[in-house]
Amino acid sequence: MHLIQAGIDLFATVQGWLFETLVQPLVFALGLGEFVEEAFTGTEWVLVGICELVVLFIILRPLEAMIPVHAITDKRARWTDFIYTVLYRLGAFSLLAFFLLDPLMSYLSETLHWEGWGTFNLDDLWPGVTDQALVSFLLYFVVLDFFEYWYHRAQHGWRWLWALHSLHHSQENMNLWSDDRNHLLDGLVHDLLFGFLALAIGVQPGQYILLISVSRMLQSLQHANVRIHFGRIGEYLLVSPRFHRMHHAIGIGHESRGKGSLGGHNFGVLLPIWDVLFRTTHFTKGFAMTGVRDQLPPPAGKARNYGRGFWAQQWLGFKRIVEFTRKAKRS
Ligand SMILES: [Zn+2]
Ligand SMILES: [Zn+2]
Repeated sequence: MHLIQAGIDLFATVQGWLFETLVQPLVFALGLGEFVEEAFTGTEWVLVGICELVVLFIILRPLEAMIPVHAITDKRARWTDFIYTVLYRLGAFSLLAFFLLDPLMSYLSETLHWEGWGTFNLDDLWPGVTDQALVSFLLYFVVLDFFEYWYHRAQHGWRWLWALHSLHHSQENMNLWSDDRNHLLDGLVHDLLFGFLALAIGVQPGQYILLISVSRMLQSLQHANVRIHFGRIGEYLLVSPRFHRMHHAIGIGHESRGKGSLGGHNFGVLLPIWDVLFRTTHFTKGFAMTGVRDQLPPPAGKARNYGRGFWAQQWLGFKRIVEFTRKAKRS
């Protein structure tokens, strides 16, 4: 416990120092003094992101070298994933979502005249029990994960969202950075939706950052190129690298459940329980190869190109939206 407290204290000291010597002067120099409070929160997000990157590099990178599922054949594709991770984890994105969300929330509460908006807290459910720090954390963890499961189902079921999410699945060399390989529009929609949801159910800002950070670390582990599973019982408790790899399995694990598709499995983001309840689990002992079916050469696929670099991937994502929604109109 002393160690945790020491870590928290050190974090606060570094955050304060960074804010005072760098961020605050910069904010005022740019004439953005009114946003000084937001800048302090932003500093926290960036620092948490840096800590995550360091931990991932120290723990997961050596594990990938020791117990890989496969050899990395495309180092550039992995490098592009790393760029996504830096972009998303250093908070640029969460910050953008926050700035968009803040005025949106005030606008909504004003126009809809929501009385007492912002005072609802799900953890008030059972005073003395659910409002204890750990119980409250777990409660929000489970509730947000339930919505994550359904958002993920939508990413596979709705054509325009699949047009974007397929980028995440197009990585054939899945690795510890692949969790963040997401189209920017997909990321923005997701972050806005979950930021809104978190505010609506009463997650406190400090708690939200912790929930996001824990979730991101677990998701990095799930995507890592490591032969790890959590054992007979553990596989039901937390999404493991083996469980999530099955979701990425080419032609088996995902793709919408519509006509001619092979169905989808293992949509759970952190907890496999939702897949068990909604009958979408596929427990397997193997470590599957990953990718999207239409990447394969004909006749199995269409040799679709998802792009190599960051900008190509973003551009092709927008093009797929047009293509997929047009196809929907025709059929
Ligand atoms: Zn997916
Ligand atoms: Zn994934």
